[in-house]
Amino acid sequence: MGAFTFGGDTMHAFKSATVLALVCPRCSLPSPLEIVHGVPSAEMIEAAVAGLIAIANPFASHGDNTVAYRCRATGCGHEWGVIDWEA
Ligand SMILES: [Zn+2]
Repeated sequence: MGAFTFGGDTMHAFKSATVLALVCPRCSLPSPLEIVHGVPSAEMIEAAVAGLIAIANPFASHGDNTVAYRCRATGCGHEWGVIDWEA
């Protein structure tokens, strides 16, 4: 669930029911941003600008490149969760 197709035109499930049900473990704000890793496509950048997703820092260390969610609250920005690459 929630798989992204990198480098293609298809990007689906920006906000799955699973994500909408999540809350930030720090401030309890619901509906976090899903963090997209890898080189973002034009569609991904548009989605990020629109506040639908978050794009991970491409220069993050290896240990940071599987963070799944980012809180959308101003002043929080907490990141948590682990992407299941096998999903
Ligand atoms: Zn938060």
